[in-house]
Amino acid sequence: MIFMSKFLLFFTLIFQMLLLGDTRTIYDIRGNSFLLDANMTLFLGNWRTATVTPIQHGNYKNVIVNGDPNVKNITLTFDDSPDENNTYKLLDILKEHEVKAAFFMIGGTMKDDNVTVVKRTFNEGHLVLNHSFNHPRMTDLNISGMESQLNRAAQRIESITGKYPLLFRPPYGSINASVVDTINEHNMTTVLWSLDSLDWTLQQPDAVVQNVTANIRNGDIILMHRNPISVAALPKVIEILKEKGYTFVKLDDMLGINAYGQPPSASTSWSCCSWLQRFFRNKKGL
Ligand SMILES: [Zn+2]
Repeated sequence: MIFMSKFLLFFTLIFQMLLLGDTRTIYDIRGNSFLLDANMTLFLGNWRTATVTPIQHGNYKNVIVNGDPNVKNITLTFDDSPDENNTYKLLDILKEHEVKAAFFMIGGTMKDDNVTVVKRTFNEGHLVLNHSFNHPRMTDLNISGMESQLNRAAQRIESITGKYPLLFRPPYGSINASVVDTINEHNMTTVLWSLDSLDWTLQQPDAVVQNVTANIRNGDIILMHRNPISVAALPKVIEILKEKGYTFVKLDDMLGINAYGQPPSASTSWSCCSWLQRFFRNKKGL
């Protein structure tokens, strides 16, 4: 009897390890189209490998590419709002299809009439998240420049919605060890994507629909933008993926993390400990 119970315990542990291991799987980034030329295909392949490999090897902490591969949940993310045109149209479509999404917004454009669309996005239950203050490549900035981008955009979002965003998407998905360290030191999480709709380069909405619906996997974080191609493609994307049995879940719910929280205190943003970590990481050339 004791032997049997130990036997069962052993297999339960193995099963849990397999399950846990699987939930931490970091996907390769997908997204393709026969309309892409050879140069773009090569560029995208190189960028995806260079970006995801260090994450898969555990070199970057707290960088998210996808959700749980075991659950048929997916999530929509839209970059580069607010604007006075396309964001409204996206919100109308999402409302009609009863889908909640995440909007990674640019802090510097949240002014004048655009404040209204930020408020509407938040009030309709979507996430209003940080996509920098004016959309630079974070890898081109020094540390104070990165901190300025993170803080100014987060503060602008908080001033409009009352919520301080903890999820950050770097413009162009451009990261390195220094960028990730700086984001982590601000208690924020880096959120990339696992399925690129390619709405930023494909000129045909049907090609975006085909790309997203053919490449979808459990737990995918889908990258779209507030542009007319995604506005045209979105209804079909939602309808086809629902038909395939996927459930659209809000980003924070799918990942089980907090989208909003407290701003970092001065003492946690730049500690001696983090300076040492950064020093040794640089020494190792990571
Ligand atoms: Zn962007």
